[in-house]
Amino acid sequence: MSTCTCASTHATKRVVLTGGPGAGKTAVLELVRQTCCSHVRVLPEAASVLFSGGFPRNGHRAVLEAAQRAIYYVERELERTLDGQNPAIVLCDRGTIDSLAYWPGAPEEFWSSLGTSMDRELSRYDVVIHMRTPAIDAGYNRQNPMRVESAAMAAEIDARIATAWQHHPRRFVVDASASFLDKAEQVLVVLRREIPDCCKGSSVIRTSKPIAEEVSGEL
Ligand SMILES: [Zn+2]
Ligand SMILES: [Zn+2]
Repeated sequence: MSTCTCASTHATKRVVLTGGPGAGKTAVLELVRQTCCSHVRVLPEAASVLFSGGFPRNGHRAVLEAAQRAIYYVERELERTLDGQNPAIVLCDRGTIDSLAYWPGAPEEFWSSLGTSMDRELSRYDVVIHMRTPAIDAGYNRQNPMRVESAAMAAEIDARIATAWQHHPRRFVVDASASFLDKAEQVLVVLRREIPDCCKGSSVIRTSKPIAEEVSGEL
């Protein structure tokens, strides 16, 4: 993170970085932390906060549902921790809508149990960037049945995440087939567009080539 000299008041934008397991999300977030100005704030992943703290995790329906509701509340409160701190961008490691990929019932049940709606949650975020999970053939060892099984599961979760976010008006998809550096650069290109001009002088995001066209709002 580079210290930013900008003293302007920012209209904070919320950006979600999402993706299934193995998409490279964590490494990209680390890159953002290291390269963006201090007005780009990265939040921790709500699910990791909960599960690393010992929240129950098993296949029982009540546990699955409780976990997703808890993740929703933690995510919402994580987002509020930056209120009053004048960030330009709040970059969320997944957003409230990601829970639909793990919720065992119908989406409407999830939203009504939380007293909210899909539209309300979509409007919470200005931009969504989805890093796709590599397909089974790419990046996983097919000789190892355990890896193939977990790769299939990862791909299924990734597809469910794509469906969950499909109606967001500003959704960018970063294809899994690109190299890690290309994927990271695509995310940074999208992010840089959202950084206000007042902060651009202090940001050390530099992109060597205009690759934004490769990032699409379509599935
Ligand atoms: Zn600024
Ligand atoms: Zn700044």
